[in-house]
Amino acid sequence: MQDDKRPPTYLDWAATAPLRRQAADAIADAAARLATGEWANPSSVHASGRAARRALAAARAAIAEFAGVSAASLVFTSGATEALAGVIRGWRGPVLVGATEHAAALEAAPDAARLAVDRHGRIEPFDMPEGALVVVQQANNETGVLQDVAALARRVHDGGGTLLCDCVQSAGKLAAPPADMLALSAHKMGGPAGVGALVLRCGDGIQPLMRGGGQEGGLRGGTENLLGILGWAAALGAWERGWPDRAAALRTLLEERAVAAGALVNGSGAPRLPTISSLHLPGVPAATQLMALDMAGVAVSQGAACSSGTLSASRVLAAMGLGRAAGESIRVSLGWSTTADDIERFFDAWLPLASRARAHAA
Ligand code: PLP
Repeated sequence: MQDDKRPPTYLDWAATAPLRRQAADAIADAAARLATGEWANPSSVHASGRAARRALAAARAAIAEFAGVSAASLVFTSGATEALAGVIRGWRGPVLVGATEHAAALEAAPDAARLAVDRHGRIEPFDMPEGALVVVQQANNETGVLQDVAALARRVHDGGGTLLCDCVQSAGKLAAPPADMLALSAHKMGGPAGVGALVLRCGDGIQPLMRGGGQEGGLRGGTENLLGILGWAAALGAWERGWPDRAAALRTLLEERAVAAGALVNGSGAPRLPTISSLHLPGVPAATQLMALDMAGVAVSQGAACSSGTLSASRVLAAMGLGRAAGESIRVSLGWSTTADDIERFFDAWLPLASRARAHAA
């Protein structure tokens, strides 16, 4: 059982990253200014409104610079779900969605065509209807598998279409891909949940995500989430560019030991993000693995975090043709403060399961 005094070993960064201390401080500072009336609605013309507007503009510039996009292209939203669903639902034309996309994209277009993936999770060649919106991730949230977004963009543009790329997992870790639109989320980067952005490099064919008071260039009505946006900017200010390389080394360690113990790495045949590992332990249900790890104070997940907190077989792995793996795989995801000790504690709890599974199979 976990010693309650020891902090949990957090290996579920793909679900959400811990809120950065700098983000919490910036939120507290902004809240104090809003409480005293020093800042007010950023759309108001009076001094407090103008002060809030300046803070918002500075945060927008900082977030855009970090993401490698122009400040004018950022449309703040309540998160990536809103950014993806808003574009997809408003699209007047065919929509094609990768079969392993996040539910935020798949559920926004339940009747849209699905782009099949191979066993490694990479999108297969597809026919491109004129004027179509194509939605793909830069990095998959369960396997970390990367799509070749540059090649997909060429294919989509040659066919007269528009590419929307979900960059929720890859933002900050990889350069922004050459898509027409990007979806970003603050809480995967140390900012608070409930804020994100649509990056609009090319707004052709876009309908307002939300009509209202004309905020965000008329594309997303509603008073801006100043606390969330300032918290996000502060989190990015604390970002240390080299940490994904450290995570890559730890992930190699993790996967080598896991494979030696009998596991398979889903998507290992494709280039992957350095922070996510999808491990299949044949013969051991994912729920059993999660429970044993949770009892030992190690937080991982089966795949995408689900609002109901329930477990079901991974549809990402099923779409990759890994039917058996879909119910026997766990996602281990790493972040900027993950250490070799964390990996050690993972194995303390997980290796006994792997040994039992091997003994059973023998
Ligand atoms: N896309 C991917 C790949 C994700 O991992 C997530 C969150 O888990 C989302 C979209 C949704 O982002 P948000 O929580 O900001 O709505």
